[in-house]
Amino acid sequence: GIAHPFLIMLPTTSTPAAGKKRIYVVEHMEPEIGAWSTLEYIAISTESAASGSDFYLTSVPPSLAEDLPESLRRYIDAPLKVTSREVTQLPEIHADRVCLLDPQAVEELSPADADVFEAFVFGGILGDDPPRDRTAELRKYGYQGRQLGKIQMTTDTAVRVTRMVIEEQQPLAKIPYADYPELKLNKNESTQMPFRYVKGKEGEPYMPEGMLELIKEDADKSFDDFF
Ligand code: SAM
Repeated sequence: GIAHPFLIMLPTTSTPAAGKKRIYVVEHMEPEIGAWSTLEYIAISTESAASGSDFYLTSVPPSLAEDLPESLRRYIDAPLKVTSREVTQLPEIHADRVCLLDPQAVEELSPADADVFEAFVFGGILGDDPPRDRTAELRKYGYQGRQLGKIQMTTDTAVRVTRMVIEEQQPLAKIPYADYPELKLNKNESTQMPFRYVKGKEGEPYMPEGMLELIKEDADKSFDDFF
């Protein structure tokens, strides 16, 4: 036995898309880092650590950076990097290899984009209903844009879906979604979320840890304010 020469040309178990270090950038655009954003950023930190990618939170004013919630501070350096600079000022990032995730982009994100881009930029925006186009502010940077379908996702969902397409090579259309899910707040009340989520194992919308509780608390508060 001499091994067939072609055998040495067989691909190894990992695809070219796997194993590369990706950079996920969220441009923080809210006046505060509130409870909702904190839970989203923790989820993105955890998932970035698990996939060996970097997570930059950019355009954070120094006053907010100094006063980061303790629960988020724990992820600093591994993998979270918080900076007051905007994404264009990060030396690690090369403009021609950056993708802006933009609901208004013409082209959809596809697994082939894994070879095109090394960094993915998202708006750190709390969703609104109807969606105001605040992602527009990020278009001035001139990055190539890709959309993830027409329905607005929460920021952590948009990062999660991008990761599934780029790192796991799943086409957008194959990902199971939960659209506008109805959340039960208590025995009598429920609320409909104006977003698309990834569908979890039991068919539930996949949300950051603690988010459901936060939504319930907020609902209680506005109920109290009403009376
Ligand atoms: N209504 C919002 C706006 O003002 O643009 C949508 C913001 S969304 C909650 C937060 C970020 O997630 C967006 O800035 C974008 O980067 C990303 N995102 C959410 N849904 C998306 C989609 N369908 N396609 C591409 N990017 C999306």
